[in-house]
Amino acid sequence: MNEGLLQRLKAVLPADGVLEGGGLEGRTEDWMRRQPLRATLLLRPASTAEVSAVLKLCHGAGQPLIVHAGLTGLVHGADTTPSDIVLSLERLRRIESIDPVQRVAVVEAGVTLQQLQEAAEQAGLAFPLDLGARGSATLGGNAATNAGGNRVLRFGMMREMVLGIEVVLADGTVLPAMNRLIKNNSGYDLKQLFIGSEGTLGVITRLVLRLREKPARQDVMFASVPGFDQLAALLKHMDRALGGGLSAFEVMWPEFYTLVTTPPATGRAPVAHGAPFYALVESLGSDAERFQAACESAIECGLVSDAAIARSQAEVAAIWGLRDDVLQTARWGLPFAFDVSLPIRDMPAYVERVRRELHAAWPQVRAWVFGHMGDGNLHVVVSPDGLPSDARARVERMVYEPLQALGGAVSAEHGIGLEKKGWLSISRSAEEIALMRALKQSFDPKGILNPGRVI
Ligand SMILES: Cc1cc2nc3c(=O)[nH]c(=O)nc-3n(C[C@H](O)[C@H](O)[C@H](O)COP(=O)(O)OP(=O)(O)OC[C@H]3O[C@@H](n4cnc5c(N)ncnc54)[C@H](O)[C@@H]3O)c2cc1C
Repeated sequence: MNEGLLQRLKAVLPADGVLEGGGLEGRTEDWMRRQPLRATLLLRPASTAEVSAVLKLCHGAGQPLIVHAGLTGLVHGADTTPSDIVLSLERLRRIESIDPVQRVAVVEAGVTLQQLQEAAEQAGLAFPLDLGARGSATLGGNAATNAGGNRVLRFGMMREMVLGIEVVLADGTVLPAMNRLIKNNSGYDLKQLFIGSEGTLGVITRLVLRLREKPARQDVMFASVPGFDQLAALLKHMDRALGGGLSAFEVMWPEFYTLVTTPPATGRAPVAHGAPFYALVESLGSDAERFQAACESAIECGLVSDAAIARSQAEVAAIWGLRDDVLQTARWGLPFAFDVSLPIRDMPAYVERVRRELHAAWPQVRAWVFGHMGDGNLHVVVSPDGLPSDARARVERMVYEPLQALGGAVSAEHGIGLEKKGWLSISRSAEEIALMRALKQSFDPKGILNPGRVI
């Protein structure tokens, strides 16, 4: 980076807004790998005006930037090299307001998901997005990646929860689009272009988010399910029986259930091991009797072979803790983690095919499958332990290639980042990718925002 640009950046940010050299020590570039941060400079603007000033200078100099937030992204979107400049949103941390009448929150992009969940709860409201990385992931990062998580079935992805957005474009222009209305069809819905664009079209600095009334109850059942047909039927049964109250339907193949309920994992098994499938079923806001009756009728008609219904908030947390304990898959080294979408009816054959190919290649391979079945989203996780150094590319082929014929997606919710770029054409047509490139060229002609990501 040229010295002149460094001096100009130092002039538009306060002294602690520019970190270099020793100031970068102890920082990581990734929540999962804990890889020490490689960068020449880290910029920490504390306001939209400062983000705008930084981008204006970098745009003028043709200087690329990598945007960093909670660093919980799982597709290497925030990876850096030693010569990179990082734009961190860690100082945009204010919850500006919570309006209990309009049921909206106005937040800066660096507020964590958990901070907003807790603030909403104190106001008797709820922000329904939820995912395991809630303590570190930021709302700006959630919007940039269009995060999904545990309750998409009922509330949609982040895209459905964002009412308004403020974005700084590559040349420093601030785009205020802080709509607070649920219904606003006045022209193009520009915010949607930035949601899920993974920081390639603009830097999200503020958001207006839709809140809901705090649910009166949270009921959870953990069930053993005797077969896949019963699992698919259970999803429909619970959805129908709960009359719109179903908020999560998570599935675990047995290897994952055993992993998270066997020491050194601390989770306890709520039902016996040995079933072909396990389901976590959650209802928010319905009444306890209705939930109990829905579970009992599922057992009576053979959709469930064994079940534990949480009797307290601690039991609810313990059951969700099993689903969230995905780090157990990293016990044998950082795993290859996939996040695919496919039609529900194709899931058993797809999983069987991937497993068959994995075991044919490496009989001792460790692989786990679990996910948000209600949304058609499965996570396939493969341990690299004992696998050859070229295994990653081979596993990717086994996981991604069958999706094309099924109309599936290589990313259900984590995004493309650097990791899945080569596979984008499995899920998007050549015409779609060409239009994505045209949009990138139009929004960021000098290619300074998160270069090389997505397309
Ligand atoms: C244990 C665990 C569980 C997870 N579970 C889920 C899950 O269930 N569902 C799900 O969808 N994801 C899940 N994730 C992935 C992750 O939490 C999300 O991708 C998250 O939304 C990223 O937010 P972040 O603040 O950490 O962003 P980062 O990781 O810092 O950034 C992610 C990408 O967005 C860009 N970016 C970040 N902030 C902005 C901004 N303000 N403006 C422009 N670009 C920006 C970055 O440059 C990068 O490309 C999980 C991750 C972990 C570690």
